[in-house]
Amino acid sequence: MRIAFLGLGIMGRPMASRLVAAGHEVSVWNRTARQHVEGATTAVSPADAAKEAEVIWCCVADTAAVERVMFGDDGAVHSLREGVIVVDSSTISPSATLQFAERVNAMGVHWVDAPVTGSKIGAENGQLIFIVGGATETVQYLDPLFKAMGKQVIHVGTTGKGQAAKLGMNLMIALIYEGFAEALTLTQKLGVEPQKMIELIQASMVKNGVVDYKAPFVLRRDYSPNFPLRLMHKDIHLMLDMAKENRVKLPALETVDEIYEMSSEEGWDDLDYAATLGLLEKWAGVGKK
Ligand code: NAP
Repeated sequence: MRIAFLGLGIMGRPMASRLVAAGHEVSVWNRTARQHVEGATTAVSPADAAKEAEVIWCCVADTAAVERVMFGDDGAVHSLREGVIVVDSSTISPSATLQFAERVNAMGVHWVDAPVTGSKIGAENGQLIFIVGGATETVQYLDPLFKAMGKQVIHVGTTGKGQAAKLGMNLMIALIYEGFAEALTLTQKLGVEPQKMIELIQASMVKNGVVDYKAPFVLRRDYSPNFPLRLMHKDIHLMLDMAKENRVKLPALETVDEIYEMSSEEGWDDLDYAATLGLLEKWAGVGKK
């Protein structure tokens, strides 16, 4: 298939590479000029990348970035033809997704929201899970592309439902990690080695995938970004906005948001969100020196 891939960040670059490796004809574009994706052509604008494409796949930071790459002056919208499919793997607002979809639907173009879970390692290994909203027929048509980049597709429902479910998932990740970080902080203060605590967690009923992924990084206090703090913080704001709009109370998440605010003030936006542990450790006077 001819695919335009917009956004070559931590997630987008390996995703585009896997599409190339699966034999697709890929044209890539990134806002800031970056290293070439081997086997792909590099376009000068989203509209340029999209001009021959049957599928336009985008994976950029946030709602404003999706709006810019799709509907900006040189946005992909200027190259859209009837029948083209736009797939958005960024994590963005479910309500903005509906508005974007409406705009392209008026041109006979399909919109599928397909945010992902699996982080950097999942993207590199083709082990992502796609959380999808859109028409069944369109989602099925995309199956070979999902398979090139991921291990599973969960088709949640109609347009926007993928983004809604993704927010629910990340809500849990943020709270689980906060629970892990608080447990590590308290038990260190009580004299328990983090390594032993992690061994106990993973042997017991509180075993979980977030700790599986993060433990090796946390033990080294390696906060190089797999999922940058600024992006989890963006997602927390999306969740709180959706909660407000829909009259839902999320008291635990409101507290976690404060930890992210303070981590951001520390200048940790570009570190992994795992760095939030550092704040708790600083307050408690524990942790790796
Ligand atoms: P990233 O490494 O920060 O990359 C962000 C990408 O968006 C870059 O290509 C960046 O371009 C582009 N971008 C940002 N603002 C833009 C704008 N205004 N106009 C055009 N392009 C813009 O982020 P990532 O980790 O790849 O994440 C991408 C999306 O996937 C996010 O929505 C994130 O929440 C989601 N996600 C991430 C993970 C993860 O673990 N990393 C997991 C699941 C989902 P420049 O290079 O020019 O800055």
